Amino acid sequence: MIDEIRGLEELKCFAGARQAEAAVAFDLSQRWEQADAGVPAAGQGAGVAAQIALARRESPARGSRLLGLAKALTGMPHTFAAFRAGLLNEWRVTLIVKETICLAPGDRAGVDEELADTGALDGAGDKAIIAAVRAAAYRRDPASVAKRAARAVSERAVSLRPAPDTMTYLTALLPVAQGVAAYAALVRDADTARAAGDDRSRGQVMADTLVERLTGAPGGITGVQIQLVMTDRTLFRADAEPARLPGYGTIPAAWATELARTGGPAAAHPLAGPAGMEELDLWVRRLYTAPGSGELVAMDSTARLFPPGLKRFLQVRDDTCRTPYCDAPIRHHDHITAWHTGGPTNVNNGQGLCEACNHTKESPGWTAQTIQGQRHTVATTTPTGHTYHSTAPPLPGAPICQIPAHGNQSGHSQERRLALARATP
Ligand SMILES: [Zn+2]
Repeated sequence: MIDEIRGLEELKCFAGARQAEAAVAFDLSQRWEQADAGVPAAGQGAGVAAQIALARRESPARGSRLLGLAKALTGMPHTFAAFRAGLLNEWRVTLIVKETICLAPGDRAGVDEELADTGALDGAGDKAIIAAVRAAAYRRDPASVAKRAARAVSERAVSLRPAPDTMTYLTALLPVAQGVAAYAALVRDADTARAAGDDRSRGQVMADTLVERLTGAPGGITGVQIQLVMTDRTLFRADAEPARLPGYGTIPAAWATELARTGGPAAAHPLAGPAGMEELDLWVRRLYTAPGSGELVAMDSTARLFPPGLKRFLQVRDDTCRTPYCDAPIRHHDHITAWHTGGPTNVNNGQGLCEACNHTKESPGWTAQTIQGQRHTVATTTPTGHTYHSTAPPLPGAPICQIPAHGNQSGHSQERRLALARATP
């Protein structure tokens, strides 16, 4: 059994190496085809990473990293050979490429050779590999340290990911000076507040202050719409069906109802007293879904651009970018069949896409169409003729199987969903 486990591990590495070779070859063939089709040099290669991502069932962003890794490996034959032989797995090869990507190709090849010659990677774990590769890279090109730093600064970003118990991590990746300064400012203000008798913990004051500074409001959610999607049964009849909070995911029914009715845990904020909460407005938007399928019922517009109501509708229905495996937030409201080729502006022909996926879809050879299904489904066909299906995620309260919903809804032709928004008047 151990031999089998070992053998399969080597097979995974070999398969990864073959995928990398195929990715590089596919990239070249697509570039030639695009050049033949008259695509200018700057635009060649568009959509290649997206196709690799779909084939590997990864997000487009990861597809792009995998293609970059494959290309970098063509200049690192020793590392590639170790990958192919099962001595390095895809993750460790990624670490090596990441640490050397700032080097000139000659230096990168030199590091590749040095690591192979000295056997520095034999039996090395992730940290040991990073240390060995970094040391070799610094020796070859000390200036690469500076280049790495410049590159790192360009990757500053803010992200949000779910934490347990309806909490979230709001994370900022910042240059060290800004990060330390921001943290020091929060600590200073927390210490000042606590010295003045604030009985919240230092961590609590820091967290509350951060939210207040960013949103400009005590308690934090005034003036910003948070589009909470829930069933009418959850809101009015204490039903247990969970709700959906865009940007976070599923939240428990009781918490969603509290948020909708009272402002939620934010109302407990000492600086957002009853007076503050009175300025909050609760907007209820009614959305209707077909019984049985749980599909949102359509509405039409004659405009070329999706009007705001229709955009919100797509936002609620699609939740995140519709490309399979892409979890990116929606940035574009796209006509599945383009408007200039007769595609109507309606919910059926609309989909939410992230910026990158929308650009990919416009590349030569890509087509998309809405197809009939239980829920809204888009079939996207890539230049190689492969077709991928994307079905809108289930809404809160939507039937899990494809059997028409429970008997208590009989007699109603439509089942109701509510989208709630909290905002200032
Ligand atoms: Zn996307």
